[in-house]
Amino acid sequence: MNDTPLFVTRSFLPPAEEYEVLLRQAFSNCQLTNHGPLENRLKNDLQKFLHVQNICLTSNGTLALMLAIRQSGLSGKKIITTPYTYVATLSALLWEGCIPIFADIDPHSLCIAPKSVEKILQEHPDCAGILAVHVYGNACEVEALDVLCHKHNLICIYDAAHTFGSTYLERSLLDFGDYAICSFHATKLFHSVEGGCIISHTEENAYNLHLLTSFGHIHDDHQMLGINTKMSELHAAIGLAVLPYIPNNIMIRKKLSLLYESLLPMERLTRPYLHDGLKYNYAYFPIIFESEACLLKVKKVLETNNIFPRRYFYPSLTTLPYLPTLTRKSLCPVADSIARCALCLPLYETLEPHYIEQIATIIDRIVSAS
Ligand SMILES: *Cc1c(COP(=O)(O)O)cnc(C)c1O
Repeated sequence: MNDTPLFVTRSFLPPAEEYEVLLRQAFSNCQLTNHGPLENRLKNDLQKFLHVQNICLTSNGTLALMLAIRQSGLSGKKIITTPYTYVATLSALLWEGCIPIFADIDPHSLCIAPKSVEKILQEHPDCAGILAVHVYGNACEVEALDVLCHKHNLICIYDAAHTFGSTYLERSLLDFGDYAICSFHATKLFHSVEGGCIISHTEENAYNLHLLTSFGHIHDDHQMLGINTKMSELHAAIGLAVLPYIPNNIMIRKKLSLLYESLLPMERLTRPYLHDGLKYNYAYFPIIFESEACLLKVKKVLETNNIFPRRYFYPSLTTLPYLPTLTRKSLCPVADSIARCALCLPLYETLEPHYIEQIATIIDRIVSAS
């Protein structure tokens, strides 16, 4: 058994001295929040890194989603979304008074299936938008969703919390849709401990989102109802210290993922199919078992070895107790079945290859015996 527990993610930390240099800047000008110079610098650096414009930084990804829903005028409306995601996608919708309607997912990409979206639009022509998720950093079928949005006059928001550093057709996945949000939570590929952002595509939206993050006013000029979801200078500082390491971290994650694939019994497991044209960020390493029973056996044995993979995402959001009646009616057999059989294995920069060998050996033994 391993002495130290192995979790599914481990936050990347830059050398403390590099954070300290940035912290000293905040200390010396004594500006700790309210859109200070470090936040500004992070915003500019991110825009350059991702080749996008109009980034609005926030205190986390969930509030970023809520602001995107609000600014797009979707609050209170019927929105098509996916049950195969982290609960925050759903909670942002419910918190904004929306009625989520679940579309099923594509069994290969694990992202929302445009065919299922189309079916829902026939049943619910009053849907006003789509909130889709680029699951595990894989790309949704953005072209097909785009066509549906144009045809039915829908707003498209992407929960791109997993996609930092993924590109599709050489373009950041964060650049697609009317709005895209990212999370910079400590467990994500790029992080600022807590943080997030919204990417929008008009000056007006960018301006309004910025106002929404800080109470809707500039000095004594109150322009709209806002909230407080600013990114502090201390969070921006850690983001600035982490960002330069991202390209190398993605390379390390790629190597570790390939090692997993070379050692695991891939003929008995399924992995999400990555879209052509996608340059993947290796944010997660999910595997899908043939049965939930097999997954549970593997999970149990790994846990007795002090290894803690995560059923990400389990349970399917279709089963949550607080769904509105209309939401509960959505049937998503593919998402429900994938949610029962998917397991994310540990993947982070400092994960030593011998652990991957150990994990693969355990999985191979159990899968072969079942
Ligand atoms: C992490 C995550 C969020 C929430 O982001 P926070 O920054 O933790 O609020 C939203 N959606 C998905 C898919 C996520 O994985």
